[in-house]
Amino acid sequence: MAVLGAIKPILTVGWDGDAAWRLRDYVQRGGYRALKRIIEERIPAAQVIDEVKKSGLRGRGGAGFPTGLKWSFMPRDPGEKYIVCNTDEGEPGTFKDRDILRCNPHSVIEGMVIAGYAVGAARGYNYIHGEIWELYQRFEEALDEAREAGFVGRNILGSDFCFELNAHHGYGAYVCGEESGLLESIEGKKGQPRFKPPFPAAVGLYGKPTTINNTETFSAVPFVLNMGPEAYLEAGKPNNAGTKLFPVSGHVNRPGNYEVPLGTPFPVLLELAGGVRGGRKLKACIPGGSSAPVLPAEVIMDCTMDYDSIGKAGSMMGSGAVIVMDETTCMVRALERLSYFYHEESCGQCTPCREGTRWLYDIVHRIEHGAGRPEDLDLLGDLTKNIMGRTVCALGDAAAMPVQGFLRHFRDEFLYHIEKGKCLVAPEVQRAGSTFFSATV
Ligand code: SF4
Repeated sequence: MAVLGAIKPILTVGWDGDAAWRLRDYVQRGGYRALKRIIEERIPAAQVIDEVKKSGLRGRGGAGFPTGLKWSFMPRDPGEKYIVCNTDEGEPGTFKDRDILRCNPHSVIEGMVIAGYAVGAARGYNYIHGEIWELYQRFEEALDEAREAGFVGRNILGSDFCFELNAHHGYGAYVCGEESGLLESIEGKKGQPRFKPPFPAAVGLYGKPTTINNTETFSAVPFVLNMGPEAYLEAGKPNNAGTKLFPVSGHVNRPGNYEVPLGTPFPVLLELAGGVRGGRKLKACIPGGSSAPVLPAEVIMDCTMDYDSIGKAGSMMGSGAVIVMDETTCMVRALERLSYFYHEESCGQCTPCREGTRWLYDIVHRIEHGAGRPEDLDLLGDLTKNIMGRTVCALGDAAAMPVQGFLRHFRDEFLYHIEKGKCLVAPEVQRAGSTFFSATV
């Protein structure tokens, strides 16, 4: 993992990659220090929440909601409550959480135990995407180590605080990454999102108050408490505290996960990833996972990698997954692939998403394959408006936003496809590029 900036050590992913994930490695790096301090000094739960609030840590799963605030929504009275970690990472371009489990699973365990202490929960589950089975097994091994060392289970470190933690694997459905779909799945039901409200802090797992955070968020918690909330806050920029893992993929020389302070200029991140492959020109970038609207090169090159800058540019930081596209990319084909994904992953529960994602895909598909109609671009625009905000969960919006982004910035390419029945980017140029967006759907 590449690390940039003044703040070290960064525990989110770990120092030595895959080789140093075991308990002894984590403890050597200062792991479980935050939990020990909380237990030994009997720090009140409210103070732990307060420190997390002060740090400005925002959820790293996509929504960017303030973590401490989320924890404070949990009822304070005793009773059955749950902590759930969302490792159901399934969005195209996003591959950071699996690396956290691969390189630093104990940071997630420690973060979840601390969260349990803070909100008064006695049980937690880590829901792990079904297609990363080996990391599910690794997490189970790490859990065994933590239990044996007294960091998880009954009377943690000799105190009266008990927290049981289990891993739970999904089966690869993207929609189970939506928090209420995930809860349904843990309960053994079909992973279909629930209507909200009520929100999980009131009615969550098994109908009980539940805090759900992303893997990266939990893994940052011990780090935040060890370095202190002020230092963490200052490591990023105002409203964008701390560091963030950016999975960078697509047309770069060194795809991978890069942990940098929020507010890092995009060109610096691109440089860390080795620059655009083959010395080609950057054409566009999806800055926050496949559901984030695409930004053309001239816009993204002026952005810093944080919630505010990316938002102001007309996209969103989402999971932080950066998909880089060079000049060989056909934008119609790229959108066709994305639209196919969302159509395939719709759970079918609500009509605008179930039918709308199919229509989006069908229309983009016919444009790509030379059968586009003059009215298609307006039709696509209307469809996205009729999907957004009218569905049970955010998958509808996630399907519509890429379409809007591609049409906003690359309308000419779509028009060319419709008028000429072929691509603006010559086939030999596309062939010279990556297969990332060029496989036939
Ligand atoms: Fe299912 Fe799509 Fe409706 Fe979400 S928006 S509940 S994925 S049909």
